[in-house]
Amino acid sequence: MKRRLLSLAVIIPALAILSYLVGDKLILFGRMSQLYAAKPDQQLAMPVAGVSKKRVSDSWHAPRSGGERQHEGQDIFASRGTPVLSATDGYVVRVGENRLGGKTVSVMGAGGRMYYYAHLDAYAPNLAFGEYVTPETVLGYVGTTGNAAGTSPHLHFGVYSSSGAINPLPMLSDRMEPSLAGKAANARLGKKRN
Ligand SMILES: [Zn+2]
Repeated sequence: MKRRLLSLAVIIPALAILSYLVGDKLILFGRMSQLYAAKPDQQLAMPVAGVSKKRVSDSWHAPRSGGERQHEGQDIFASRGTPVLSATDGYVVRVGENRLGGKTVSVMGAGGRMYYYAHLDAYAPNLAFGEYVTPETVLGYVGTTGNAAGTSPHLHFGVYSSSGAINPLPMLSDRMEPSLAGKAANARLGKKRN
C-alpha cells in the first residue's frame, strides 16, 4: 500500500508535467501551422544591425569549394559581435552547430519559408527551439564559426522556399536608423496633437 502511494506520488506529478509539455507543443504546432499557411514575406529586414543594403555585395551563386557548389545565400560582413536580428516574424526551429555553418539558427517564417543564420560567434542568451521571434529579436552575433574560420566576420544568410534556396538580396530592406525612427515617432505624435 505504501509503495503504491509512493508510486502515485511520483506518477501524478509526472503526468501533469507531461500533459503540460504536450499541450505546449500542441499550441506551438497550431501556431506554426497558421504561419505555414500565410503568404511568405516579400520584404526582409536587414538581419545585421547597422548594415545598409547598399553595403551588401551580391554573393548569390558565387562559386564555392573550388566551383563544386554555388553559394546559396548572401554574406553580410560586419565586425565580430555585431547583433544578428531576425529578418522576419517566425519560430525558431533549430539552434545548433554544423560543419559548414558553425553556430546556426533556423527560423520558420510565413509560408513555411526557412531563414538560416550561420557563422554566429555566439547565440543570443536563452534563445531556444519554439521561441517566437520578430525583426526586433536578436538571434546571435556575427562571427566566423564553421567554414568561415579565417575569413572576415560575416553572417551567412540563407532563405529556403519549398523548392529550394532563393536569393535574399532583392527582398532585403534597410532598417530605419534609431535617430530617424525617433524623428518619425515624434512626427506621428505631433500629428496626433494637432
Ligand atoms: Zn555564405
